[in-house]
Amino acid sequence: MHTVDMPVGDGQTQKKETPRRARSRIARALAEIDHVLPGTVTVRLGPCGKSTCRCHADPPQLHGPYISWTRKVDGKTVTRLLSEQQWADYRPWFENSKRLKALVAELEALSLQAVDNDPRWPQK
Ligand SMILES: [Zn+2]
Repeated sequence: MHTVDMPVGDGQTQKKETPRRARSRIARALAEIDHVLPGTVTVRLGPCGKSTCRCHADPPQLHGPYISWTRKVDGKTVTRLLSEQQWADYRPWFENSKRLKALVAELEALSLQAVDNDPRWPQK
């Protein structure tokens, strides 16, 4: 079973956290990331082409869900349909991708802060 802790924003826990502790927290979070999938997934329902089908009734009973995964491969958009079971399995991998980006952004902010605090910069 995979659990996803949402990244800590600029909220409560970060105020008193030292940069050193923040870095080790980020390192631990990074170590937990096992899979990362690129692209975006959209889940939608839709009608088919048969005008007599229940999906064209009132109210319509649409088909689906159609779970389409879109990503760029060599500059081209590639779309694949996922089964519901696949989506259930891979969803954490997409969430990991967002989490990874958030962690990298946090690490960048910490590093920029460290550079800003460098006493070797010429004083104004
Ligand atoms: Zn239909």
